[in-house]
Amino acid sequence: MTELVIKDLHVSVEDKEILKGLDLVVRSNECHALMGPNGNGKSTLLAAIMGNPKYTITQGSITLDGKDVLSMEVDERSREGLFLGMQYPSEISGVTNSDFLRSCINARQESPISLFRFIKEMDKAIQKLEMKPDLAHRFLNDGFSGGEKKRNEIVQMMMLKPSIAMLDEIDSGLDVDALKIVSEAIHDCQKETGAGLLVVSHYARFYEYLNPTHAHVLIDGKIVVSGGKELIERIDSQGYEWLEKEYQVSA
Ligand code: ADP
Ligand code: MG
Ligand code: MG
Repeated sequence: MTELVIKDLHVSVEDKEILKGLDLVVRSNECHALMGPNGNGKSTLLAAIMGNPKYTITQGSITLDGKDVLSMEVDERSREGLFLGMQYPSEISGVTNSDFLRSCINARQESPISLFRFIKEMDKAIQKLEMKPDLAHRFLNDGFSGGEKKRNEIVQMMMLKPSIAMLDEIDSGLDVDALKIVSEAIHDCQKETGAGLLVVSHYARFYEYLNPTHAHVLIDGKIVVSGGKELIERIDSQGYEWLEKEYQVSA
């Protein structure tokens, strides 16, 4: 069992406080839907957990099974089991997808993965995401369409088997069929590995595939309400305005 614990987290970007005291616990096998109007700090939270240096932690703590995440470099956080599937994955030309993934995998285990096993797992992931077979040999995200980049984030997730996976609007820009393929791959990966998921999306349809155990609304740097699937359904049909009245918050 893995447990990511966030306590009283305050995060600033360029001296502006974005997260203002956020508490959250994500455990193995749980799926947390993180919702909220644009510009309230969802991506900031995920980036801060992963260790993006643009985000300064001014107060609070993040621990993974009791270990202090904030004192770890980004690569160490990844080796400890944290994963971030990004909204805008970067293109890296000169490094192939398979070289990139093999070095990530090898960095987290004592002896390198056998080429046979690596190819087998990579083929399985590429097939699951219904991507073109030459993906392994192409430069990382170089010239990939928006949808291919998103699928490729999930190929990485399947290969790296994180204990806590965070996904930032991984469903945005996917067509109906791609949405189903991507969400089933995420769901099956979680079933196989027992990962805890922290998923940012605006769409109830995506969450339906993932079957979240928890849902939260982030407004003005804090989680103002938490619940289950009923919360996602209410936001889908009514938006966020009702929260202003019921919880005295303004988005
Ligand atoms: P969300 O993901 O909920 O839409 P974000 O976390 O992206 O919100 O942004 C929260 C606030 O922080 C916004 O006002 C945004 O402009 C600001 N912000 C986030 N990242 C940066 C950054 N790298 N540089 C400057 N401002 C940022
Ligand atoms: Mg965002
Ligand atoms: Mg804010």
